[in-house]
Amino acid sequence: MSPTDDATAAWDAIPARPSNPSPPAPVVPWPGGKRAALFLSVDVDAETAWTDDDPRRGDHLVSLSFGGYEGRVGTAKMLELFAQLGVTATFFVPGWVAEAYPAMGEAILRGGHEIGHHGYHHLRPDPGSPWIEAEMARGFQALRRRLGVVPVGYRAPGGEVCEAQRAALVRHGLAYSSSFRDDVRPYRHRLRDGSAGAIELPVSANFDDWMLGLSARFSPRSVMAPRDVLGMWRDELDEIVEWGAMLTTVLHPQVSGRPGRLRLLRAFLGHALARGDVWIAPGREIAGHFAAAEN
Ligand SMILES: [Zn+2]
Repeated sequence: MSPTDDATAAWDAIPARPSNPSPPAPVVPWPGGKRAALFLSVDVDAETAWTDDDPRRGDHLVSLSFGGYEGRVGTAKMLELFAQLGVTATFFVPGWVAEAYPAMGEAILRGGHEIGHHGYHHLRPDPGSPWIEAEMARGFQALRRRLGVVPVGYRAPGGEVCEAQRAALVRHGLAYSSSFRDDVRPYRHRLRDGSAGAIELPVSANFDDWMLGLSARFSPRSVMAPRDVLGMWRDELDEIVEWGAMLTTVLHPQVSGRPGRLRLLRAFLGHALARGDVWIAPGREIAGHFAAAEN
C-alpha cells in the first residue's frame, strides 16, 4: 500500500459514479404554449429555522423573533402580494409551525395555495439521522390535524437529503420532492435499488432568499442589495426561458416578507408575468403535468 492510499482511503470509499442515479430530465413541453415554468414556493419555517440545530435556543427570544415575524407579519404580506398578482404558490410548512400558527395555515389555504410537507421540527435528514421517520410521520399528523391537509409535496428542511429519506418519500406516498440542485427541469427519482422514486422539482440556490438577504447571530452571512438580486433574478429567468426550463424559488417570509425584499419580489414576479410566456404554478400542478406526460 502506498502512502497516498492511506491518505485518501475515506474518499476512495465513495464509488466513482453519479451521486444521483436518476436519469436526466426529459424535455416535456410546458402547458398552454408557455416557454418556462416558475415554481413559486415558500418555506414557512418560523421559529424552527432557529431551533433546528439546537433545541436549547428555545429561550433565545430575539433570535426566535426573526421566525416569529412570519406568523405576525411576513406570511400575510406575501399572501397579500400573491393575491394582488393572481399567482398561486406552494408553502412548505413544518408540523410545529402548523400547530403554533394555525390561523396562518388557514390563511394560506384560503388563498388557494398548496401546503407541502417540511418535517415537524425542521430537522435535517442527514445520513444516519435517527429522526427521519418521526419527522415524516409527525409532519403528516400535524398538517392533517390542524389544517385538514394531506400534502403531496416535500421539501427537505435544511436542504439535505439522504437515500433513507428518498425511500421514506415513496413509503409515505409523496408525489414530489423539491430539494435537489442537479437539473433545470422536473425528473423522476430512481432510487439506488433501481425502483422509482418521487418526481423532483429541482431548486436553484440563486433563488433562495435566505442565502441573499438575511444575516443574524446564528446565521451570519453577507447579504445582497435587493436591486442587485432583482438584476440577477431577471437575467436568470430570461435565460431559463431560452432554455425552456424551470426555476424554483425558495422564499422565506422572514426574509421576503420584509418591506424591501417584498418590493423586490413584487418587481420580479411583475417581470415574469409581463413576459407572458412563463407558467407560474404551485408544485402539485407542475409535478402533475410531468406525471401526465410520463404516461
Ligand atoms: Zn425550511
